[in-house]
Amino acid sequence: MAWYPGATKMELQPESDAQPAIRPTQFILHSIVAPWTPRRTYEYWRDSTNLESHFGLGYDGSLGQFIGTETRADANGPANRRADGTGAVSLESASNLQASDPWTDEQVEAIIQLGVWLHEKHGIPLRVCRSSADPGYGYHRLHTAWNPDAHSCPGDARVKQFREVVFPGIVARATGKTNPPKQEDDMDPVDVWAYKGTGEKADAYAYLRGTRGALTDLDKKVGALAAKVDGLEQQPLTDDQVASIAAAVAAHPALAQAIADTLATRLKD
Ligand SMILES: [Zn+2]
Repeated sequence: MAWYPGATKMELQPESDAQPAIRPTQFILHSIVAPWTPRRTYEYWRDSTNLESHFGLGYDGSLGQFIGTETRADANGPANRRADGTGAVSLESASNLQASDPWTDEQVEAIIQLGVWLHEKHGIPLRVCRSSADPGYGYHRLHTAWNPDAHSCPGDARVKQFREVVFPGIVARATGKTNPPKQEDDMDPVDVWAYKGTGEKADAYAYLRGTRGALTDLDKKVGALAAKVDGLEQQPLTDDQVASIAAAVAAHPALAQAIADTLATRLKD
């Protein structure tokens, strides 16, 4: 049983003790179609239905956790727990009554932080689930098997945020923390170019763009320096320069002898 330190624990009983263990491999996001606080969501799970999510997220970014992440919660159909013991961690988020509004900035930030924690705590790989059983990150309507009733959950605006801000944000935050990036057997390489131009949270792409700019500047400077050196080679030495080189050689008899020896060898050749 694992409890996220960033959430207020509101343990649901008897479900928390009665439901079987899972090994969490997925994180699935929902909209609850009501503007509820985590407390109100907890009361709904407790008093009105047998269903429940692991987490509830208010408009202000406040998080409640109702079930430990290594216990089954019932929000995603068959993904809650599979025959092999793996299952999905679920989050319900406050929304308007049509589930048509975007997540607030506070909600986006809270989801990103929780997403990073799930990667670090449970090793959920940093990719969007490619199938209903594939480990990774997703939202309710992404796979029909998670959503047999064909809800639009979490709504078009939030699906767009998931793809453009939330998931890239989780990847950027999780990979920025580990240097060099952790290699995991079940983790595909992250394609940073896939996030090109997808919003201000696309940190990896911005970083690469910055590096390229710095290289271009450096290239210009080296080019200018090389041109100067070429110019120097073609200029005859002044009398003063000849005199100072002669004095320097004369001050070091061993150097003078070495030059003489080298010249003698060259002349013989
Ligand atoms: Zn849902």
